[in-house]
Amino acid sequence: MTYYADLTPYTYDSDHWDPEASGRLWQGVPVLNVGWLSGDKGYANGSAPPGLVEALKSMTRTHRAQQTRGFHLCPWCPLLPGAGYADGPRGSAEIRVMGRGVAYAAPELIAHYVEGHGYLPPADFVAAVLSSDGAA
Ligand SMILES: [Zn+2]
Repeated sequence: MTYYADLTPYTYDSDHWDPEASGRLWQGVPVLNVGWLSGDKGYANGSAPPGLVEALKSMTRTHRAQQTRGFHLCPWCPLLPGAGYADGPRGSAEIRVMGRGVAYAAPELIAHYVEGHGYLPPADFVAAVLSSDGAA
């Protein structure tokens, strides 16, 4: 999967609903990357605050954006021989969360990264997720 360091400006894709938009703005505010991890890069590790995994899972339905036809696969969960893409953790969209004056774009797999691999997203993102209307 494409790697971006946390809190860097989002440049991955243009906005699917507005072909004229660069994708760097969303609902009028700059978009920052969160959770675009790579198997050959380190990431922040820690215990997730209570409710974070559940909120992120919920947001893959309520805050879904940028659906693609392809899949992102978890770089740390190898597919078993003979297994198909559908058998492992995968993502094909983003979640978008409003923060204070910014929006965050995270791959759908972020819930799996937090739950399965101890990834701890930036504090401002965690606060935005836990205070969002869509949080469980
Ligand atoms: Zn995994």
